[in-house]
Amino acid sequence: MRATTIHAPGDIRFEDVPDPRIEQPTDAIVKVVAGCICGSDLWPYRGENDVTAGSTIGHECVGVVEEVGSDVSTTKVGDFVIVPFCHCDNTCAHCRAGMQSACVNLGVTQSGQGEYARVTQADGSLVATDGMPDESLIPSLLALTDVMATGWHAAVAAGVRPGHTVVVVGDGAVGLSGVLAAAQMGAERVIAMSRHEPRQEIARAFGATHVVAERGKEGEARIADLTDGVGADAVLECVGTDGAMKTAFTVARPGSTVGFVGVPHGVELPVRRMFQKNVGLAGGMAPVRRYLPDLLDRVLSGAIDPGKVFDLTLPMAESAEGYKAMDERRAIKVLLHP
Ligand SMILES: [Zn+2]
Ligand SMILES: [Zn+2]
Repeated sequence: MRATTIHAPGDIRFEDVPDPRIEQPTDAIVKVVAGCICGSDLWPYRGENDVTAGSTIGHECVGVVEEVGSDVSTTKVGDFVIVPFCHCDNTCAHCRAGMQSACVNLGVTQSGQGEYARVTQADGSLVATDGMPDESLIPSLLALTDVMATGWHAAVAAGVRPGHTVVVVGDGAVGLSGVLAAAQMGAERVIAMSRHEPRQEIARAFGATHVVAERGKEGEARIADLTDGVGADAVLECVGTDGAMKTAFTVARPGSTVGFVGVPHGVELPVRRMFQKNVGLAGGMAPVRRYLPDLLDRVLSGAIDPGKVFDLTLPMAESAEGYKAMDERRAIKVLLHP
């Protein structure tokens, strides 16, 4: 098959690689209908994570089941499925506790920007739609494989409740999804921190009541003003840098929780502030499968339209351009068609 590969920082190719095949009886092979580029794919692209030259990249896709292993019983060939980026058996102690991203049989989609992807633990992971979904729904279904579920997880971890004032740090696809999640959960005020006009627009469409364009100390001061010096009832940290984490803790009111879902890179926690102000930290890698049935219902009923985060669609053969566009912040999130 052909798939997107990474050879070195900045070196993305679309080329022939071995077909993924059934390796375990619990596996399935999915023919990718749409894949996409994730903000976390930019870490290796920018050389901030190690790269194994020639490895496939891409962990987000939806598609049609092509083949299943001998132990797979509920997933059928021909099903249109949403593939959570982290695969789980959905039966072990961690899965049953709602922490599917820590499954004892955890797997991760390896070639979501290619023609086919292997899913380990097919029955526990895949959620099928009732027949082939309408073309117009594909972007929103694709968003459920990671970013929407991850933004949702940030809001759950931060304990967002009806009536809350919520601050979302980060205006990437996950941060925007966090805005949507907080609004769905009944937050009265959702303050999105974003400097970029197109992202501000989506944040407003997703339910942001305020946009703070300033960053760092100035942004923190704006939020202090907006909350009468009290701070936010819940904060979603959707970046993963030290600066974003510092801002999150600075704007969080005493007794609140920061929900973090940005993959941490060089973060040092302000433990003294956390102690003095009783501000907690919760979250981590999203247990996508836990939220999928509910989020799928919300997409199908039209309650949410998380596919709005895709502002560029390219053929997979041009995935290198997609990476460039996201790296240069010309695109928020890139959808790829095989
Ligand atoms: Zn992702
Ligand atoms: Zn499990």
